[in-house]
Amino acid sequence: MNTQSSRAYIALGSNLEQPVSQILQAFEALNQLPDSRLISRSSLYRSAPMGKLDQPDFINAVACIETTLTPHDLLEALLKIELRHGRVRESPNAPRTLDLDILLYNDLQWRDEKLTVPHPRMTERAFVLQPLMEIAPDCIIPNCGTVAHLLSFCLDQKLERVAP
Ligand code: AMP
Repeated sequence: MNTQSSRAYIALGSNLEQPVSQILQAFEALNQLPDSRLISRSSLYRSAPMGKLDQPDFINAVACIETTLTPHDLLEALLKIELRHGRVRESPNAPRTLDLDILLYNDLQWRDEKLTVPHPRMTERAFVLQPLMEIAPDCIIPNCGTVAHLLSFCLDQKLERVAP
């Protein structure tokens, strides 16, 4: 068992069935994960869909938790929360009630068939970097640089802060 406390950053996204409420409930679910507590969470942001454009805008946020769960146990726990929120996996860019991704787990760099950390697409998405910047302005993404530097390449992506 992993008894050392780790800090993990989680990206949240929803564009179905009252997305704001999905995200607010998900913060609470993160706080109730076993052996974990919610440390901080960002404001809520609205972003346009990427890839598959004919779907509603997304509500996005980032949360920071302290946890003694291993990265893989944390991933399993997040997938269970997604299922409780009625998540159905159709295609990679399909609309979703709730998406939870592990962005960072301490300064871990890991890749296997189930889990890649840091999350591989986080460095090019304003809807991840902006809320991360809000709660962890000094954050460094292993092998990629500071969140502020990465965000400077995403300024063309429209993002609107919609709720505290
Ligand atoms: P999606 O919900 O479409 O983002 O994809 C979820 C799947 O991506 C999960 O079944 C995981 O096995 C895999 N995955 C790989 N790396 C990560 C990560 N850092 N966070 C969440 N899911 C991940």
